[in-house]
Amino acid sequence: TVSDKDDFDFFYFVQQWPGSYCHTKHSSCCYPTTGKPASDFGIHGLWPNYNSGSYPSSCDPDRPFVPSEISEDLKSRMSKNWPTLACPSSDGTKFWSHEWEKHGTCSGSIFDQRKYFETALNLKKQMNLLQILENAGIKPNGRIYSLHSITEAIREATGFSPGIQCNMDGSGHNHQLYQIYMCVDTSGSNFIECPLLPKGSCSSNIEFPSF
Ligand code: 5GP
Ligand code: 5GP
Ligand code: 5GP
Repeated sequence: TVSDKDDFDFFYFVQQWPGSYCHTKHSSCCYPTTGKPASDFGIHGLWPNYNSGSYPSSCDPDRPFVPSEISEDLKSRMSKNWPTLACPSSDGTKFWSHEWEKHGTCSGSIFDQRKYFETALNLKKQMNLLQILENAGIKPNGRIYSLHSITEAIREATGFSPGIQCNMDGSGHNHQLYQIYMCVDTSGSNFIECPLLPKGSCSSNIEFPSF
């Protein structure tokens, strides 16, 4: 079904920690064909959501991702800030096209694919997540940090509380920092307090693996 594209309440802006995508008991990752990504959070997606917790998806089959509509400069910024870690190795086009088709097409008529990707890149630049954590002494070094200290560091630096998702590390024993959700208004320009946080999946102390 095609839903009304301007009909959503806020965005989740979701970033992933590559070390946690790559090191789990049941799966590993593949570096993109453009090389090993930086040791930094990468964008997963910018996802329209309803206040109820549900969300629209794949809103317009007539607007497929067309790589030629975005400039080489934008593509190179995406390779750097929105790297794909799924196997087999690829250049990112598949990941970006999935995000555009599933979520981007539901983002409202002001978002064409160029604006959708640029908006996400700008949000990442507005909030240097790794720097915020490092400033609070929270580093990707394989140590264990309290979930509370991570949440508070981000809240103090940005004014907004993040949602944090974990997955299991390679031993299958420790929860590790996997994804950080921030909420953004429907213009895509301003962080807001989350109307609702995604379901938590972390224990009270979690690992921040290196990458
Ligand atoms: P998972 O079930 O692995 O958490 O999520 C699978 C996919 O569903 C995500 O990559 C994303 O595309 C979508 N998704 C999961 N949770 C949410 C959510 O709370 N809001 C939105 N908009 N999409 C979500
Ligand atoms: P679950 O209910 O197990 O979280 O999700 C089952 C599947 O339905 C997942 O693939 C998830 O991405 C999708 N899903 C869950 N809630 C929503 C929703 O509100 N909208 C859409 N489009 N998909 C959803
Ligand atoms: P979502 O969970 O956003 O619906 O879908 C993520 C899709 O993109 C999955 O099919 C997943 O295999 C693919 N994908 C490609 N690269 C990545 C990546 O680096 N991280 C995540 N989470 N998914 C990726």
